[in-house]
Amino acid sequence: MREFGYERVFDVPGAVALLGTGPDARFLGGGTNLVDLMKAGVERPTLLIDVQELPLNTIEFTPDGGLRIGATVTNSDLAAHTEVRRHYPALAQALLAGASGQLRNMATVGGNLLQRTRCGYFSDLAQPCNKRVPDSGCPAIAGEHHNHAILGASEHCVATHPSDMAVALAAFDAVVSYETADGPGELPIAEFYRPVGETPHIETALPPGALITGVTLPSAAVAAHSRFRKVRERASYAFAIGSIAAALDVQDGAVREVRLAFGAVASRPWRARAAERALTGGPADTEAFAAAADAELAAAEALPENGYKVTLMRNLVVSVLTELAEEAAR
Ligand SMILES: Cc1cc2nc3c(=O)[nH]c(=O)nc-3n(C[C@H](O)[C@H](O)[C@H](O)COP(=O)(O)OP(=O)(O)OC[C@H]3O[C@@H](n4cnc5c(N)ncnc54)[C@H](O)[C@@H]3O)c2cc1C
Ligand code: SF4
Repeated sequence: MREFGYERVFDVPGAVALLGTGPDARFLGGGTNLVDLMKAGVERPTLLIDVQELPLNTIEFTPDGGLRIGATVTNSDLAAHTEVRRHYPALAQALLAGASGQLRNMATVGGNLLQRTRCGYFSDLAQPCNKRVPDSGCPAIAGEHHNHAILGASEHCVATHPSDMAVALAAFDAVVSYETADGPGELPIAEFYRPVGETPHIETALPPGALITGVTLPSAAVAAHSRFRKVRERASYAFAIGSIAAALDVQDGAVREVRLAFGAVASRPWRARAAERALTGGPADTEAFAAAADAELAAAEALPENGYKVTLMRNLVVSVLTELAEEAAR
C-alpha cells in the first residue's frame, strides 16, 4: 500500500473543498471496500477524507411521508430503524442479507452505493480489466464468469454490481443527493448507475468531486408490502448470485401495483420494468408471475457458465410474488 494522508472533515463544504485539492483524494466512509482495494493496489489515493463525522447521520421523514437517509448512516442503523422496517421492509432485509454484523456496523450508505464490483479480475493487478484500466480487455468473457451479468452487459464488461441495498433502493425509486463545489444536485437511482456500454470504468452519473449527502425514499404505500430475497453460494457472508426486491399491492385478486428489482444480474441494480408492465392490472397468480418473469428475462444474454441465472431469477420472481400475494389474500 502506498503512503497516504488522512483528514477528518466536519462540514459538507469543507469535505467537498478538500477533495478538490488533489486528483488522488478519496472520501472514506466505513473503509470496508476502499481500504481492501488499497491493500490490493487497485486504489492508490494520496489523501483519505474521512466523512464519518459529517452531520449526515440522521433518518428523517420528508413532508410527503417518505424517508430521507443521511449518507453516513451505517448499514446496521438503517436496517434497525423502526420506520424503515415498517414502511420499506425489503430495504431492511436487503441490508441484513449483506456482509456481516461487524461490516454493517462500519459500512455507510454512501460507501455502499459506490462499492466496486467483486469480479475477481478487477482486483487482480496481474490481469487486464477494462473497468480498472480502460481498453485493456475483459478476460472474464472467455474465462471465469459464472457469477457475471446476464442483463445489460456489453462486450467490454460483464461484471455485476454487488450491493444488496441498492437493489431495494431501485425498487423504491430512491433519489440520491450530492454536493459539489458548484452546489447540490440529485439523481434518481434509475439514472445514478450508468449503462456499461463502452465505458465500464465510468460507473455512475455523479459529477466529478461529488460527495453523496443522502438518499430519499419517496412515500409509497406498496413498499410496506415488500420483500428481499438473496441467493448465494453459502448461507451467509457471501455476495448474491441472484437477488430480488419485490413489492406487491393486490386488490380483488388483481395486481394494482408491483415493484421488481433484480440484483447480481447486471452492472447495476436491474429494475424489471417489462415484468411490472406485464403484471399491472392482471391476475395475481403463479401463471402471471411466471409470464412476467419470462417477459423480463427475454432480454437475457447468458455466457457459457452463467445461464443458470435465468432459471434462478424466474424462480425468485414466482416464489417471492406468490408469497406476497398469499399475504395480501389473508
Ligand atoms: C467480506 C465482505 C463481504 C461483503 N458482503 C456484502 C454483501 O453480501 N452485500 C453487499 O451489499 N455488500 C457486501 N459487502 C460490501 C460492503 O457492504 C461495502 O464494503 C460497504 O457497504 C461500503 O461502505 P463503506 O462505507 O465502508 O465504503 P468505503 O469503503 O469507505 O467507500 C467505498 C467507496 O465509496 C466512496 N464514498 C464513501 N462515502 C462516500 C460519500 N459520502 N460520497 C462519495 N463517495 C463516497 C469511497 O471514496 C469509495 O470509493 C461486503 C464487504 C466485505 C469486505
Ligand atoms: S467483467 Fe468487467 S470488471 Fe470483470 S474483467 Fe471484465 S471488464 Fe473487468
